[in-house]
Order: sequence, then structure tokens, then C-alpha cells
Amino acid sequence: MRSFVPNEICSGYDDLSGRTPKKVLVNGGAGFLGSHLCERLLKSGHEVICLDNFSTGRRSNVHHLRPFSRFRIIEHDVRNPFDVDAALIFNFASPASPPDYQRDPVGTLLTNVLGAVNALDLARRNGATIVQSSTSEVYGDPEHSPQRESYCGNVNPVGPRACYDEGKRSAETLFFDYHRTYGVDIRVGRIFNTYGPRMRPDDGRVVSNFIVQALQNKNITIYGDGSQTRSFCYVDDLIEGFIRFSNAGKKCTGPINLGNPAEIPVRQLAEMIREMTNSRSRIVHLPRVTDDPKQRRPDISRAQAKLGWQPRVALDIGLGKTIKYFEARLSAAKVAEAV
Ligand code: NAD
Ligand code: UDP
Repeated sequence: MRSFVPNEICSGYDDLSGRTPKKVLVNGGAGFLGSHLCERLLKSGHEVICLDNFSTGRRSNVHHLRPFSRFRIIEHDVRNPFDVDAALIFNFASPASPPDYQRDPVGTLLTNVLGAVNALDLARRNGATIVQSSTSEVYGDPEHSPQRESYCGNVNPVGPRACYDEGKRSAETLFFDYHRTYGVDIRVGRIFNTYGPRMRPDDGRVVSNFIVQALQNKNITIYGDGSQTRSFCYVDDLIEGFIRFSNAGKKCTGPINLGNPAEIPVRQLAEMIREMTNSRSRIVHLPRVTDDPKQRRPDISRAQAKLGWQPRVALDIGLGKTIKYFEARLSAAKVAEAV
């Protein structure tokens, strides 16, 4: 079996990740996105500290980075203050999948609020640049599509998604208040649904669920009628957007949408994955989840204009790479079970 080569399509990008090596802190660095970010930063010559409490992330996501002498892992919960010498901070620590963030809603809200405060205090003490992984969830169930950064959103503050949505909204508020009050150098990026290798097979998000179900010929579970839409961005594209954003001068605070505007109904995604995996799965419908946004599509004109960035990886290509990753993981798990 061919082992997966992480970031193989990323090599086509110009390396804009800064001419001078920096000390970079990645909070949530052992998660899906954080691990790709650590890898990209290390490959660009930076010193990287991955800080994580391993609640939804895994050590195995960054295991392959240990040979880099410039890489360090610190086990820590961002709800408690931390002191690390870093000139650039990426604040990616938060559960991101709805089942993950709803499992401990109070913990999620506090991770987003206290995690932001602690990271911003560190940035202020160090005079560091700090980059926030915000989310399209700040738009809630949007009344306008595509979503522009100027849209203030439609979030239910007392629903089951609020711990995440309002946590991220409060974090954005803190970022802009630290910027206005203390002059902290901030970047706020709003991430739209991103997928790729190193998602957890059981994280409950739609891409990982559908691929794992299809590969195992189990029922593919659509919540509701499947007419709700999402716009899926491949992980390498997203990381490229964040690298460009982190290098984009002090005036470029954002918020900036980072995502792929190609929108697709969930039902069509299920059919596409079933076909790509040659699966015998049946597509079944389960009840719609509360407050599930009906449509989501980023307007990326700001990212195009300010960062010269737009996604390059089409959905079928990105899904192909992700399917290969899950195939390898599932067969490795089978082998381990058999031993
Ligand atoms: P993930 O769950 O794989 O990664 C989150 C990481 O943060 C994990 O390693 C986890 O262990 C760590 N973490 C969580 N709580 C922590 C705490 N209290 N202290 C220290 N570490 C903690 O999720 P992801 O998809 O990689 O998301 C990363 C970031 O990007 C999150 O902030 C998420 O909200 C944001 N985001 C992701 C998406 C997406 O589609 N993947 C979309 C919008 C926003
Ligand atoms: N979804 C689904 N089946 C699943 C998982 C998710 O139909 O097994 C739907 C979910 O209801 C939502 C969309 O897919 O409409 C995206 O869900 P995900 O949890 O990936 O992300 P988010 O809701 O945060 O956009």
C-alpha cells in the first residue's frame, strides 16, 4: 500500500511564507488544520511550537514532524495562561466539528473566549502578530448568499451551536478590541468548511462521515433532505491562504473569508462520494439537526484582492486525496485488529 505523502499538491505554490525564519506558536497544532500548518511552517524554515491539550487532536498528526529539531510540542490547555517566546501566533485551538463542540458546550465557549484572551495577552507582551481561525459559523444560518465579510450574521444565541458560534464571535470581538485598545497586530480569517487528510474518521463532520461510511459500505447518513449546501475547501488551499494572510502587513486585519466558493448540496456530495468510492452504500435520511445552516458560500473577493489568493483544488481532486487517506487509515486499522 502506498503511504500518503502529506501536502503533495502544495508544492505547486510559491513559497510566500516569509524570508526570515520566525518563532511561531500554533495553538491547536495537533489538530487537523493545525498539523498541516505546523508542517508548512517547518518546511518554510520556521521554528514551530505546537501547543495542544489533545482533546480533539492527536499526537500522531504531528509524529512525522518530530525529526525537525525546530519543532516542539507543549501539552497545555489554552483556557489557562501560557508564556511562550513567539513572534507569530496562530490561534487554532478549539473543537470544530459539531459533535465535538457540542459534547462539552461550556468548555467550547471557554476555550474560544479564554483561549483568545490568553493568546492575545501573549501577543501583546511579545509584540507578536496573532492570527485567529474564525469561522463561517459567525454568519449562522445566513439570510444572504454568498456571505460577505460585511454581513453581521444570523446566529441563534441560545441554540446548541451557540457555544461555538458565539465563542468565535466573542473571540473576534476580543481580537478587534485588543487591536484598537492595545495596538496588537491581528489577522482574523473566517474559515469555510475545510476537508482533507488527518480529519478524524469519527469526528462527525460530513466529509469524513460520508467517506468512511462509503468505504465500509454502510448507510450514508444525510441529516434532513440534503438540500442544504456547503462549499468545501481543500486543506492545502486553506493553509496557503493563512500563510499569505500572516505575511500581509499590519493594516490587513481582516476579517477575511477563506474558503472555496464552489457550493454543493449535501445530497450531491453523498452521491459523488458513493460514486468515487464504488460503494454499495445506501443513502438514508435522518432528522435534520437543530439550527443547521441551510446554505453556505463564501464571497472571497476580499481574499483575492488583499492576498492574491483563491483556492486551486477542485472538489473531485481534493476528495480523491482524502479518500486515499481514509482508505489507508481504515486498512491499517484492520491490520492492527487482526494482529
Ligand atoms: P480539530 O478539532 O482537528 O483541531 C482543534 C485542535 O485544538 C485539536 O488539536 C485540539 O486538541 C485542540 N484544542 C481544543 N481545545 C483546546 C484547548 N482548550 N486547549 C488546547 N488545545 C485545544 O479542528 P480543525 O478542523 O483542525 O480546526 C482548527 C481551527 O479551525 C478551530 O479553531 C476551528 O474552529 C477552526 N475552523 C475549522 C474549520 C474546518 O472546516 N476545519 C472551519 C471553521 C473554523
Ligand atoms: N451532515 C449530514 N450527515 C452527516 C454529517 C453532516 O448530512 O453524517 C450535514 C450537516 O447536517 C450539515 C452539513 O452536512 O448540513 C455539514 O456538516 P458538518 O458537520 O460537516 O459541518 P457544519 O455543519 O459545521 O458546516
